[in-house]
Amino acid sequence: MRAVMAFSGGMDSTSLLMRLLADGYTVDCLSYEYGQKHNLELDRAKQNISYLEVNGFQVIHRIVDLSSAMNLFHSSLIVGGGEVPQGHYEEEAMKATVVPNRNAIFASILYGYALSIALKDKCDVEIALGVHSGDHEIYPDCRPEFYQAIGHAFAIGNWDSDKVSFKLPYLDGDKESILRDAEIAIEKLGLDFATIYRNTNTSYDPDELGRASGTSGADIERILAFHAVGKEDPVEYVNSWNQVLQNALQIEKKHKDEYYKQRLTELQYNVTRESGTEAAFSGMFWDEKRDGEYSCLCCGHILFNSEMKYDSGCGWPSFHSELDDASISRLEDNSHGSIRTEVRCSKCDAHLGHVFGDGPIQFGGERYCINSAAIDFEER
Ligand SMILES: [Zn+2]
Repeated sequence: MRAVMAFSGGMDSTSLLMRLLADGYTVDCLSYEYGQKHNLELDRAKQNISYLEVNGFQVIHRIVDLSSAMNLFHSSLIVGGGEVPQGHYEEEAMKATVVPNRNAIFASILYGYALSIALKDKCDVEIALGVHSGDHEIYPDCRPEFYQAIGHAFAIGNWDSDKVSFKLPYLDGDKESILRDAEIAIEKLGLDFATIYRNTNTSYDPDELGRASGTSGADIERILAFHAVGKEDPVEYVNSWNQVLQNALQIEKKHKDEYYKQRLTELQYNVTRESGTEAAFSGMFWDEKRDGEYSCLCCGHILFNSEMKYDSGCGWPSFHSELDDASISRLEDNSHGSIRTEVRCSKCDAHLGHVFGDGPIQFGGERYCINSAAIDFEER
């Protein structure tokens, strides 16, 4: 099996390379030099190729110089193109980090390269791309419809295009799921996770020592992904891991708060994000008796079904159990002069309510006292 891929030296393409090798592909990598400020990523890419070679994995790696063409383009990522914005990776300001038509150019070269290999070696070649949904918001040339359209254009514009196909394994994933997948692939290859990711660069503004600031949008996204998989990022930052992580978590929280503020009513926001409580007998679902499922209002994670609901008379929706996959988080809550157990959504950390020990004995004796304003109901 043959694959060609763009190997930027960033986290996604490095993970993709590990996945392809673990799946038994023979891989040809292209890295592009296009006048990017974070040219360091190419050095890191070479370091990983050497690391692979030392460990018995031969990967063909070529660096393609596009700088004379792409220096004509305007982007904050290109030398001479203005400041790289700071902050959350989904913010409007991050559009300054778009390089016009970048993926069309990269994919076009990859396609020509893949087809050349296919004809020369008389084999089928897959073009593997590490694009994922986390990038769709800011980078329209990472969207699936873009690759469908461009793949179609290449196919009708070339003889023998049936020998070349696209492979986009991360399309529905995000940085976190990509890292989880890479962990499995790296384990299978018998390689060292920390060494491989130390040999990557995600930062758009590394300093002269190659250290990432930890504050650009791309950094924040990366830091949160490592945190989500329970690992310290082995790459070097200007500040300690704990400092960059705390900063990233704060920015993420601020971003989420703003997002929910726009999307929720005042009461829903107060309950889910500020741990408020709605008045008894005031919510939509305390007396709800229809069959169906209850989910987290903020993220849609399914928490309870109607068979778990019962009439406790307290004025809030009451459940004696939660669904197995709900994995609702429990926290000790010392507010209001008593010790209670607060329950939160395990997916998005929304406050749901509390759990008390006065529930029906036959179901374990617990009562989940949940705010209507924290949940959604879908009738069966
Ligand atoms: Zn949630």
